[in-house]
Amino acid sequence: MGILAGKHILVTGVLTDASLAFAVAKLAQQEGAEVVLSGAGRGLSLTRRTARKLPQEADVLEIDVTEPEQLAAAGAELARRWDRLDGLLHAIGFAPPECLGVDMFAAGWDEVAVALEVSAYSLKALAEAFLPQLEAAGAGGGASIVGLDFDARVAWPLYNWMGVAKAALESLTRYLARDLGPKGVRVNLVAAGPVRTMAAKSIPRFSDFEDTWATRAPLGWDVHDANVVARACVALMSDWFPMTTGELVHVDGGVHAMGA
Ligand code: NAP
Repeated sequence: MGILAGKHILVTGVLTDASLAFAVAKLAQQEGAEVVLSGAGRGLSLTRRTARKLPQEADVLEIDVTEPEQLAAAGAELARRWDRLDGLLHAIGFAPPECLGVDMFAAGWDEVAVALEVSAYSLKALAEAFLPQLEAAGAGGGASIVGLDFDARVAWPLYNWMGVAKAALESLTRYLARDLGPKGVRVNLVAAGPVRTMAAKSIPRFSDFEDTWATRAPLGWDVHDANVVARACVALMSDWFPMTTGELVHVDGGVHAMGA
């Protein structure tokens, strides 16, 4: 029996089969979960096509995290389907091009606000939309929210306002862990090393990150392997981390622990 047997899991952020979230959805199904995906905007049709590539085709809800009506409608739809939500994957990030690159001063508040809303505030927006079902799972043994992070405790070249948004996501994770813990809902992040996805392609000189990982990861690192990240996410959604919340789990080959 799989470690997610009988669990209901909502996976956001599946765009292509290279998406980190696709690897999570696939592994969650293989571990026995019933999975629903969400997609947004122009990517929605691509998410629907990608959903057919899973071991069992998954239904797709429309959720642009900046649209409160869509969040409310998705919450109502999920409540019709499931009496509880055991796991929620937040795999959403976006920043306008001005927010990334050589010039930290290129972005104004309008661009930065988009990055913060989509990449950080959205964790609260999603948790809120599904809170009744998460609380139902929390009362019955535990619910788990897992988000995807790029370690924001330090400054990186070029990552700029996306790094600031990830730092906000890390802080928000701790505050949500504080408030949702008494309801039996855990909130954790997985800080992944660089993996070649659509979002990665929009990061200028992404290959610089790949070079850093090639030289600094004591365990080594494969930029094509999303499965190592998925394993940590699935483990955190399982019953095997019942007392872990507000945590940042690094799945980066050990880079975060090296000084040089
Ligand atoms: P991806 O496949 O491009 O996934 C990013 C997802 O975010 C897409 O499905 C995208 O959908 C969605 N998204 C963007 N704006 C949205 C909005 N307003 N509402 C709802 N969804 C929205 O790339 P990925 O690399 O797997 O990214 C998933 C997460 O992992 C992100 O948080 C990213 O920062 C994080 N991460 C990635 C890496 C890496 O190296 N790839 C490393 C560490 C952490 P649309 O395109 O349809 O808008």
